[in-house]
Amino acid sequence: MAHDFLQPLTGSFAQPAAENPTVVMIEAAYRQLGLNWRYLNCEVAPEALGNAVRGARAMGWRGFNCSIPHKVAVIAHLDGLGASAEIIGAVNTVVRRGDTLIGENTDGQGFVQALREQVDPAGRSVLVFGAGGAARAVCVELALAGARRIEVVNRGEARGRELAELLNQRTAATALYSPWRPQHAIPAGTDIVVNATSIGLYPDVDATLDLDLDSLDASMIVADGIHNPPLTHLLRAARQRGCRTADGLGMLVNQGVIGVRHWTGLTPDAAVMRQALLDLGL
Ligand code: NDP
Repeated sequence: MAHDFLQPLTGSFAQPAAENPTVVMIEAAYRQLGLNWRYLNCEVAPEALGNAVRGARAMGWRGFNCSIPHKVAVIAHLDGLGASAEIIGAVNTVVRRGDTLIGENTDGQGFVQALREQVDPAGRSVLVFGAGGAARAVCVELALAGARRIEVVNRGEARGRELAELLNQRTAATALYSPWRPQHAIPAGTDIVVNATSIGLYPDVDATLDLDLDSLDASMIVADGIHNPPLTHLLRAARQRGCRTADGLGMLVNQGVIGVRHWTGLTPDAAVMRQALLDLGL
């Protein structure tokens, strides 16, 4: 009987790497698809990134994720970028195509895919809190998905203005920056509200956005990028006011679905991946 002991390799390069749960959902996806593939969490220091990518090339890795602090630095070691990764200026998923390594950014795509279970962003007016890496990816993909207007609200003005400018220059959406005011009120006419800051992330689960919760209207969709815990203060308050919600676990799972599809050509079952994360107690 012939055996094949060569497992196709994928994984993640990050520092720190130990607490990244992506491995659990991706390996659950491989099992569900009946693939004998592996996903390895690798602790890679910034000065070792070039060698890590060369190693992945030498060993024929099918692809890998990049997390903090490599999402921008990895670009110098790749052969090309996907369209939205080029606009965002950051890569979280590297895909081997033939002999080349191409950088994609699935963070915002995962967000939009999860959001679509509640609403199609095309033609909508969106308010996004945050202007960091996650906000950048989310805003670019919302714009590419046809969002009409994107209001960026950020604590730091320079970063907020830079993101609004990027959207105006590189996408068809109309974007503006608004300073984050105390008890910030969501303007009437906003269709979708997004928390793309790190506020509410474990272990600071009691931290809340400085937001006038009574300005949330039941017609609004409220989305949070925080995946741990999935039910944040913001989402709980939004649900109490009758809003439909999309959680950060959906964003995480869907960016994993898109990554697995890039690497294997197959679409895994998102519910299986979500359950694998929930089984961790997230
Ligand atoms: P960055 O450090 O790049 O950006 C952090 C953002 O949060 C900035 O806009 C920052 O504002 C804002 N912020 C942080 N603390 C405060 C505060 N106390 N008050 C007001 N604003 C604050 O991080 P990322 O963009 O990479 O990540 C943001 C979050 O998104 C993380 O919690 C991460 O877990 C989550 N994420 C989730 C993913 C998922 O799949 N669910 C994928 C990727 C990220 P300022 O510019 O003023 O500093």
